[in-house]
Amino acid sequence: MRARRWTEQRVKTLRRLAAQGASARTIAGRIGGVSRAAVLGKISRLRRAANAVEAAARKCSPARPRGPGKTLLELTNHSCRWPIGEPGRRGFHFCGADGADLERAMPYCARHARRAYGNDAAAAEPKNPRRAPARRRVAPRS
Ligand SMILES: [Zn+2]
Repeated sequence: MRARRWTEQRVKTLRRLAAQGASARTIAGRIGGVSRAAVLGKISRLRRAANAVEAAARKCSPARPRGPGKTLLELTNHSCRWPIGEPGRRGFHFCGADGADLERAMPYCARHARRAYGNDAAAAEPKNPRRAPARRRVAPRS
């Protein structure tokens, strides 16, 4: 079977599923009419194009947010999806730190999960890192 063309719609679907961490096999099945290899090839080409765009953007934009970060196509199942910057704007990216687990419906790293949900883990750590509690002195036991 000859691979069908990558229409805008199919690329959109590919990007969305890839961002959700779907496997190439899953993406191929969802799009239909393409092989897993074709999906991998397309992802790789999109990545290369995205990298080129990013490199160009970096050259003329010193305002790329701090931190390593990841673009949409660089995200894996374990990459934090906390958005940094404004979608559609130059420099927009995701936190990308390890610690997320999409299979367990956990899209953020521990730090951003606390910011997003303020769950139990938040109570265990200081809310404001600048006001961390003073270090306890370790007194020798008598
Ligand atoms: Zn994060």
